[in-house]
Amino acid sequence: MRDTDVQAASPSNSGHRVHRAAAKNRHRSRRAAIRPRRLAWLVPILAVLASLALSYGAYQLAGYSWDQVVSYESPYTGIGGQVQAATAAPVQRTVVVLIDGLRDDASRLMPSISALRARGADVRLTIGQPSLSYPSWTAALTGAPQQISGVTTNWFEGPVAVETLFDSAAKAGRTIVVTGPDDLDAMFGVSVITPHVALTPWSETEYTSGWLVDETLRLDAEAGGADFVFVLLPDVDQAGHDFGGESDEYEATVANVDADLARLIDGLDDGATTFVVLPDHGHIATGGHGGWEDPVIHTFAAFAGPGVAHVSTDAELMDVAPTVAMLAGLPAPRQALGTAIDAVLENPDTDARAAEAERASAVTRDYIATVLPDAASPDGEGAIPASQLAAQREAADAERLEAERAQRLPVFIGIIAAVAALAVAIAVMSWRALIAALFGSAVAVAIYNGLFFLAHGLHWSLSAFNEEDLIQAFFNQRMLEAAIAALVGCLVAAVVYAGLRRELRGPQSGYLAGWLALGSATVLLAQAALVVQAGVFIWQWGPSVSWVLPDFRAAFKYDLDLIQLTALGAAALIGPVLTAIVGWLHPRARRFARSA
Ligand SMILES: [Zn+2]
Repeated sequence: MRDTDVQAASPSNSGHRVHRAAAKNRHRSRRAAIRPRRLAWLVPILAVLASLALSYGAYQLAGYSWDQVVSYESPYTGIGGQVQAATAAPVQRTVVVLIDGLRDDASRLMPSISALRARGADVRLTIGQPSLSYPSWTAALTGAPQQISGVTTNWFEGPVAVETLFDSAAKAGRTIVVTGPDDLDAMFGVSVITPHVALTPWSETEYTSGWLVDETLRLDAEAGGADFVFVLLPDVDQAGHDFGGESDEYEATVANVDADLARLIDGLDDGATTFVVLPDHGHIATGGHGGWEDPVIHTFAAFAGPGVAHVSTDAELMDVAPTVAMLAGLPAPRQALGTAIDAVLENPDTDARAAEAERASAVTRDYIATVLPDAASPDGEGAIPASQLAAQREAADAERLEAERAQRLPVFIGIIAAVAALAVAIAVMSWRALIAALFGSAVAVAIYNGLFFLAHGLHWSLSAFNEEDLIQAFFNQRMLEAAIAALVGCLVAAVVYAGLRRELRGPQSGYLAGWLALGSATVLLAQAALVVQAGVFIWQWGPSVSWVLPDFRAAFKYDLDLIQLTALGAAALIGPVLTAIVGWLHPRARRFARSA
């Protein structure tokens, strides 16, 4: 069998004594050798260009996909339009307190919240993704999750396009008090809705909950007893970011906020006031949120006061706003996808309850009609049972996703075919090089993931970066590690290749192009593995975000895959040099060069 290996692909003899034995035929063979020699140089050059193209494309795609999530424009802000706004019921004074970043387990140590649970409802909540503050505040105040409200990150620039409890209360002519970070104004325009507001910039250094409680009590007195009070306390979240969700400092801040919350409840409770206390999300032990970790997404809402049943139950964050509306005697916010939590309502007005069931059903029908615009309108006019609402929406999502995935499948098959063609092309040039490059790229993948999962203890989760200003450093570190892992992979590939040859001819023996190509092939195969993984995501969710938010665990992995692909562009320039150096320094290659 003819030797078609890396070494044979570069039968150069110029300036070397390698082919002295063939000196007799030099005249004849030199002409014949020109073409293959040039072709041999073409391989590493084309491979590096391919790597750089992949790197640049991945960089562009990473920016695009990030932007697609951050700048997502919800097509659902018009849903709920046909719903007849239920006439407001008699005023039921209601106080909603949102404690940013309060973990469920920490809330169980707060006497003020325990007292509410003891006489009211203890609701275990699940929140949506991404589990960031702006999206969760919006879900709590509107009943519209991220996909509906369009608020997907904390970079959202208000005002939100869906109706809030503030809007409902204002339309019903209620007196409203709002206190908290001034983000509430940019997001929900609260100071336009009511004159009774006290807002302060989010402080990373000062404890503000005491002042906010003072202001709430003052404004409530000024309003002569407000109908609807909303307070957002930021300090627990700040402690979570600074010290972690299981730290002593976090616990100490929770205790301070507990004392202020007790003061607030004492000051506002006239025996006829309904209280609702909930967080927007929790915190991981090391601090941070945004992802899907249990202490981040499994939160709570405590309800107490007139009309609240003594119960323990489960619900979604988006069910809170319709429940609050029902308790307060307000129409639910128009786009609320959630529905009032039946178990929490004690002896409710059956008409109001029926109206809420109709409303939630109409919103779900509008949602389905937006997801599947060509489908016949969903059957029936009456109320869909609350237990069926999510299942009907999920069925519509699944139907559209299935159709879109079928359309994208050829692209994915094309990616697989291109990767297979790459492997075949390398094998045709040198099966030893293919084995060595596969080995090297596998080592690169193992090193990168070993660092990511084992050394750093990271997951595919937005909670990985605790603060927004750490995002760039996080991605830079992943890129550096991906590049280093690939370079180690190149060294391994060179050693494996040497081990596969009986007679080892190094770059000094005229095989420089082949040794460079080995490094290029290793980086290219590592990139190919990432391209396949990114291809799976694109097949599943598509490159753009227009009607459904992707699974954010998969989306985070996709972004990381693209970031690694980008970093491997640098490895594509350095890796071939490393394989050539290994070839040059390898004892057997040196021995061959001396003996030739
Ligand atoms: Zn936070």
